Amino acid sequence: MTVWTKIFGDIHTRFYARTRPVVGKINGLEEKYTAFSEQQFAEETEKFKARISQGETLEDILPEAFALVREASVRTIGQRHYDVQIIGGIALHEGKIAEMRTGEGKTLVATLPAYLNALTGKGVHIVTVNDYLASRDAGSMGQIFAFLGLSVGVIKSDRNSFLYDATMEAPVVSEEELEVQTFKVQHEKLRPCSRKQAYRADITYGTNNEFGFDYLRDNLAQSVAEIVQPGHHFAIVDEVDSILIDEARTPLIISSQAGDSEDLYTRFASMAHAFESGSDFTVDEKLKAVSVTALGIEKAEKLLGIENLYTERGIKYVHHLETALRAKSLYHPDRDYVVRDGEVVIVDAFTGRLQPGRRWNDGLHQAVEAKEGVEIQKESRAVASITFQNFFRFYKKVAGMTGTAETSKEEFYKVYGLEVVSIPTHRAIARVDHTDLIFQTEKGKFKAIARKVKTLQEKGQPVLIGTVSIEKNELLSAYLSQEGVKHTVLNAKNHEREGEIIAQAGRKGSVVVATNMAGRGVDIKLGGIPGSNELYNEIKSFGGLFVLGTERHDARRIDNQLRGRTGRQGDPGETQFYVSLEDDLMRVFGSDRIKTMMGRFGIPEDEPIENRFIASALESAQAKIEGFNFDARKHTLEYDDVMNYQRKIVYERRRAMLLAGNEEITAYLNTLILEDETRRVVIDKKRHDFGEQAFLDTVRRIVLHITDTLWVEHLESMDYLRSSVNLRAYGQREPLVEYKKEGLRMFKDMEQQAISEVMNLIENMSTVPPAETVEPLLVTDIPETHNQEIKKVGRNDACPCGSGKKYKKCHGKDA
Ligand code: ADP
Ligand code: MG
Repeated sequence: MTVWTKIFGDIHTRFYARTRPVVGKINGLEEKYTAFSEQQFAEETEKFKARISQGETLEDILPEAFALVREASVRTIGQRHYDVQIIGGIALHEGKIAEMRTGEGKTLVATLPAYLNALTGKGVHIVTVNDYLASRDAGSMGQIFAFLGLSVGVIKSDRNSFLYDATMEAPVVSEEELEVQTFKVQHEKLRPCSRKQAYRADITYGTNNEFGFDYLRDNLAQSVAEIVQPGHHFAIVDEVDSILIDEARTPLIISSQAGDSEDLYTRFASMAHAFESGSDFTVDEKLKAVSVTALGIEKAEKLLGIENLYTERGIKYVHHLETALRAKSLYHPDRDYVVRDGEVVIVDAFTGRLQPGRRWNDGLHQAVEAKEGVEIQKESRAVASITFQNFFRFYKKVAGMTGTAETSKEEFYKVYGLEVVSIPTHRAIARVDHTDLIFQTEKGKFKAIARKVKTLQEKGQPVLIGTVSIEKNELLSAYLSQEGVKHTVLNAKNHEREGEIIAQAGRKGSVVVATNMAGRGVDIKLGGIPGSNELYNEIKSFGGLFVLGTERHDARRIDNQLRGRTGRQGDPGETQFYVSLEDDLMRVFGSDRIKTMMGRFGIPEDEPIENRFIASALESAQAKIEGFNFDARKHTLEYDDVMNYQRKIVYERRRAMLLAGNEEITAYLNTLILEDETRRVVIDKKRHDFGEQAFLDTVRRIVLHITDTLWVEHLESMDYLRSSVNLRAYGQREPLVEYKKEGLRMFKDMEQQAISEVMNLIENMSTVPPAETVEPLLVTDIPETHNQEIKKVGRNDACPCGSGKKYKKCHGKDA
């Protein structure tokens, strides 16, 4: 027993020992609530609220609240929370991660802590991985909450927002449609509303992206009225590993367009073309980095016609060159991205999903566009950004649920302070996980898979095949066709229907080839038709759904997610991974000894090799890459922590300025003036000329304008600093320490500059009273994309300082 399992083993035991009596208490309250009339439920909610305002704690009320929710669920959707679901609910209320296997009903579990915590009136956010799940869950769980007298909102992308409305007619679907589409929102009684209203609801469902973007947009607001999020109290994060681990390396960014240098990208793309891997540059697949050799530098200097690349100005070229080389040698079409409608769209490495609107930063996206010869989108400038780690830290309490947390418990604990508790399943697990089959070549592996799938299909047992990329997806599909296996291919290219296809993956003889997490959160019912016992039992007799993995993933967690697709709620099911020594995992992270062993077994390539040494090498390669990715995420966070400190200061000041009344603005002005008598005289005069209110309103606008402008410039400088400290690291200095030190100095400079620019603007304020409507610097009606764009003040627009002059004639003169 390792130290970790010992500690966590104890945690589980203690947790159950502590919660069992609570479950008993909740069960004991059941009779009381079954006797309730319909209207008594909402009344009971009001009573709970009153008790809380009189000083009772949520823990005091928990047993009654959970028992009430359970009965409300029975009355509305006909599902009674199992005892294990109650235990899961307690874990969530305590701000832990509840590990509950796929199919255990986590959606329903969340209703318990959501209801209890919503009683405080401060709002509970339930975070899902996609829009579809947000409205599915709000629509179905909304019935329970409405019955209890609570309101439910949903925030979706496109800035669409909804409130659950029990009085709305459910959409009419034909019998036929119902059969295929039951997985879709069955009770979609969602009425469009404003963003603010959705947030004012007691419980709000939405994706991590939308909650995060709304936070960033709120901090770009030009008036209090534009702010939508009331606060961050309690977040229940569904599929928490996906959000806090898989997505943790890509921050959310809101950007605006900046000047163009498309030519540069094209030029370097063609230069990269002429560079030979090995002699001109070397590639490190693990680090996803390239480095240019002395020979390469020389070549570049010649091609660019400059003498020394490593001068102050040349650094920019080095960066461009390296980026172009990375684009060429490390980013592959149909694996890392797809080209669709003339655009380079990122493929998420873990989920295989397309990420339209998201862009790699640091010019990498442009470099790939140049390589692919598609239109190079203008370089954009980040105006606001945050990592998910730091966003979720705003919440006073965070809880998570997922089927796969155990293998990442150390990261959850160290990075987020979140404890993982594994909740037992409602029914005993009947799934059989077969040991991996190992092949020498990928081709041999695919041949063997196709043969296996054929026999399964002939028997009628449904098969779900997980692949790691679109490219592999299509390759395997060809092998299957060759064997005459009828199958459906599901990948990011056709993901609109993914929920539908996945829901049907349990039908007799069905074969679905999918990237590993397609349709996550969607239930696979054996037999495919809910409620049909005949079909269900037939598939059960075949052994349930067979999940076949075609490659081990970067993390055991992802393997387990795939396995978790089958064997829900005590159903039979089988899983097996087919791997080869040519898989990326082995190629990049496997030991050299393995590589030299290849081809030495003297058995056909489509026959598995039985070798204990190889099996353990595979495990250790996976452990290595898990550790490596963990470090990379920690690294991202360490850098964002530096930014986070500064971001907090700026955003807090900004918000204070938005909310400030006349007194506060005056007090703020006094801190700027300090003892400077000349300044005071000028300002007193302005105040007199403008009139009190107009003067203070203008000051407010000026401060916001300066804060935003300098902050955006600062973000850019920090970005630049980040890449340059890495170069300096060769000079034996610790890059992160340098980044902190230099970053702080730059921040202080920015603060000083802000003060002097604000003073300067105020002193030069024109006595022309400000125009009625002044165009704000940042307009927040942003078109939908993940990497949000914002419009800047135009040269012909009124200057935000309120002078009434055009921007280009006033403060935009030098812009
Ligand atoms: P998970 O998110 O844990 O994978 P879901 O929330 O998608 O699971 O639920 C899986 C299925 O189990 C759904 O069809 C749901 O309606 C059903 N379910 C959940 N809890 C119960 C319950 N207590 N009684 C009956 N059915 C339930
Ligand atoms: Mg789920």
